[in-house]
Amino acid sequence: MSKLRFRVVEAAFKKKPAEVKIPVERPSEYFAMNVFNREKMFKYLPEKTFSQLVDSIDNGALLNREIADAVANGMKKWAIEMGATHYTHWFHPLTEGTAEKHDAFVEHDGKGGMIEKFSGKLLIQQEPDASSFPNGGIRNTFEARGYTAWDPSSPAFIVGDTLHIPTIFISYTGEPLDYKAPLLKALEAVNKAAVDVCHYFDPSVSKVFSYLGWEQEYFLVDEGLYAARPDLLLTGRTLMGHESSKNQQLEDHYFGAIPTRVIEFMRELEIEAWKLGIPLKTRHNEVAPNQFELAPIFEECNLANDHNLLIMGLMRNIARQHGFRVLLHEKPFKGVNGSGKHNNWSLGTDTGVLLMAPGKTPEDNLRFITFVSNVLKAVYKHNALLKASISSASNAHRLGANEAPPAIISSFLGTQVSAVLERLENTDSEDFILAAKQGLKLDIARIPELLIDNTDRNRTSPFAFTGNRFEFRAVGSEANCASAMLALNAAVAEQLKEFKAEMDEKIAAGKEKFAAILEVLRKDIKESKAIRFDGNGYGDEWKEEAKRRGLDCETSVPLIFDAYLKDSTIKMFESTGVMNHKELEARNEVKWEMYTKKIQIEARVLGDLAMNHIIPIATRYQSSLIDNVYKMRNLFPADKAEKLSAKNLEIIEDIAERTIIIKEKVDELVEARKVANKIESERDKAIAYHDVIYPMLEEIRYHIDKLELVVDNEMWTLPKYRELLFIR
Ligand code: ADP
Ligand code: MG
Repeated sequence: MSKLRFRVVEAAFKKKPAEVKIPVERPSEYFAMNVFNREKMFKYLPEKTFSQLVDSIDNGALLNREIADAVANGMKKWAIEMGATHYTHWFHPLTEGTAEKHDAFVEHDGKGGMIEKFSGKLLIQQEPDASSFPNGGIRNTFEARGYTAWDPSSPAFIVGDTLHIPTIFISYTGEPLDYKAPLLKALEAVNKAAVDVCHYFDPSVSKVFSYLGWEQEYFLVDEGLYAARPDLLLTGRTLMGHESSKNQQLEDHYFGAIPTRVIEFMRELEIEAWKLGIPLKTRHNEVAPNQFELAPIFEECNLANDHNLLIMGLMRNIARQHGFRVLLHEKPFKGVNGSGKHNNWSLGTDTGVLLMAPGKTPEDNLRFITFVSNVLKAVYKHNALLKASISSASNAHRLGANEAPPAIISSFLGTQVSAVLERLENTDSEDFILAAKQGLKLDIARIPELLIDNTDRNRTSPFAFTGNRFEFRAVGSEANCASAMLALNAAVAEQLKEFKAEMDEKIAAGKEKFAAILEVLRKDIKESKAIRFDGNGYGDEWKEEAKRRGLDCETSVPLIFDAYLKDSTIKMFESTGVMNHKELEARNEVKWEMYTKKIQIEARVLGDLAMNHIIPIATRYQSSLIDNVYKMRNLFPADKAEKLSAKNLEIIEDIAERTIIIKEKVDELVEARKVANKIESERDKAIAYHDVIYPMLEEIRYHIDKLELVVDNEMWTLPKYRELLFIR
């Protein structure tokens, strides 16, 4: 047994980093070479087709079959020149990963040979036999029909020998079975609503984009060690493992020099990402040992999200070429930091204005405060939903623990913006109107433009204003950002619509425009005050305070999901046209089911490991101690033998007690699972897995981790934290 561990550890040390072929060209020369972007569209499409496609991308103009045929033809020509032999519709089912089914371009030519063919029909729509994807009952298996439909707003790209076409995935009856379809609807809703509000300040705005800049955290683990940890392999996290004596106490990893083998991996990842048009910019060591982060320059939200999903796939593949496995789980290791995916989010106009950035004039700053206030109100109204949008079985380990945002959504604004809001809130209406007439004094004029780089930071806030954007930090490292982004954009769209309705009423009653804006803002700022919190979000006092403020403090993930079915949520999603009640219900079924399955798999893996790794090893070590005790008795007089064996007897007893508890708990776990599995309702089943099964995993782990400390290191087959976290 000891051989295995030493063998893999040695293998880890011996592993030579894969050689990275660095292109002689500069990144700017090969950036997006594998993407059918506008440059290639222009080159490969007839002029008319090009302008029709661009019109469709920019303005949502409908594409007819004829145009689609012409686009397909150009795309095929480019792809074949690039060496592609296959194409696939690439979509994002509710599994949180991506899905693809490859088809070759070949067709019979009627003369016994083959030709390369790709039609507009195949580009626009396909019907994958996708009956096994989660659908929450929307699509019965017997009709097994789900369609993928081309999303022209995200450009096709080539990975390996396959042309990938980003698509939405919907049911036969039109309900979304994925993340992309509702995300696109939410982006459209926020575009419309924000354009209307922009018109109070600048009538020339005709489009508002939602931007996303994600920061992806991850761990790298040596592949040999990973292979010797069935729990990592099957669940993505360690279900057992005693803390390493040294982990992140010295804070020596954060921003430290990047280890050679890791930098080789990063370099190759960057080259491949740049070829795919993903604008990676930042790379660094994170807080925990073997934890790293990468971030691109922000992009339009739908594209940014496709790029995030794409990069997660690239990371998994490229890591293996360097003898690593990448861990995207939110909490692979107990006792050290988990991984998140900060979603930096903002809105910006087609006239080049970032709506959540202060400007030069009082009017710009009123626009800035207007958008900030509307975002705050949306986040306040839907704080429970936003939490639900980032919740999962795996992210639950991170939320509420000490290093990450707690399971309460609040927003940090920094002193300057807070001061302006307070001023607005506390000015009485006489002053207020007067100030408005005199050119918006009220501090609004004085918000310095420099704010963007100067905002104070609060690392404990789950939704922090950072100068020209909000940073939604609670998103999990493994998540599809679309879940959070569609909820946020839709909620903001709803609020902007309400703002406009209130404005229109006041203007119709003869109120001057800016005075009306100030009046609505003043009311909204008061109403949403509870969401603003600049203190320490990790403190226990905050939990009490948040409860008093009426913010959602639920910590059980299955119950957090209930927020999707609250009246206010259904109303919000329906009024913005993003999702209807039936779809929300179906998606919640999927969420509860996924939650149950994740814990179920963990319970099985832990049970197996406890029975066929831990107990046998502990018992073997215990036997060697017993053997020693007997030999002592042969060797020495009884008194002396007893004295010399006293400590070993303690260990023998300790092991006996713990192995008994472990065995009993594993038996209980199996029984508890049988009971839970019989529960019909997905919600109730998930609750049972949360309330009953999950705590049992923790109890079993506790005793296993204690055994790890006493059992002979040579016998312990599972690589330990000190190896997993420090070998690189
Ligand atoms: P931090 O200081 O939070 O670590 P980084 O520079 O690492 O910031 O990353 C911040 C991310 O936010 C990057 O992806 C960046 O492009 C993005 N970002 C910057 N400005 C905006 C904005 N206005 N809207 C959306 N994302 C933005
Ligand atoms: Mg950040």
